[in-house]
Amino acid sequence: MTDQPVNYVIIVGPQGAGKGTQAAAVAPQLGLEHVATGDLFRAILKSDSELGDEVRQYYDQGALVPDDLTIRVLFAHIEQLQRGRPDLTGVLLDGFPRNAAQAEALDSALAERGEAISAVVLVDVPRDELMKRLTGRLICADCGATYHREFNPPASEGACDQCGGELFQRSDDTPEAVEKRLGIYYEQTEPILDHYREQGILIEVDGNREINTVTKAILESLKQRVSN
Ligand SMILES: [Zn+2]
Repeated sequence: MTDQPVNYVIIVGPQGAGKGTQAAAVAPQLGLEHVATGDLFRAILKSDSELGDEVRQYYDQGALVPDDLTIRVLFAHIEQLQRGRPDLTGVLLDGFPRNAAQAEALDSALAERGEAISAVVLVDVPRDELMKRLTGRLICADCGATYHREFNPPASEGACDQCGGELFQRSDDTPEAVEKRLGIYYEQTEPILDHYREQGILIEVDGNREINTVTKAILESLKQRVSN
């Protein structure tokens, strides 16, 4: 353990807003480690540790990992990072917290350690734009090449540019399926935004612009908040 303070920055956004892309672009420039929750669990499951065993019990039963265990896995991961990266200024959390209960659990776990969240970045894109982005994807049945009806259309409709194969839409990408996933986000994740807005740490970034423009906006707004 080092005495160096850790900056906890959270990135939030609906599917299709480019949150993961932005997190990967922004984190290295601020000395932050991009921590996606899925990767976190994959790493601990591979490790030969007590925490790994605990997580495995839930995975094996197909059960959700409890929030307090997720938080312990996160802290263990940060301590390990700190040992290997003396230049680390903090972490950029991607995928956690996802709902109000997790946000509160994280707040109190941090408070117990005398720590707090530095900033929460919301990459926001209007819902109708997300629908357009997420339902436009087409995949070649033969070679797997991906297209987008609007943003990256094939030269001739319904046929793959590479191999001439037939293009289809995955069942996950139908308007009904996308509406359902977005609905879960707006219902569960939006309440945490109010939680952080009240704390004065929410940064809202318009994600409906060029990728690089969004990256610059996030960097600009985080610069003053992330200390090293
Ligand atoms: Zn093809």
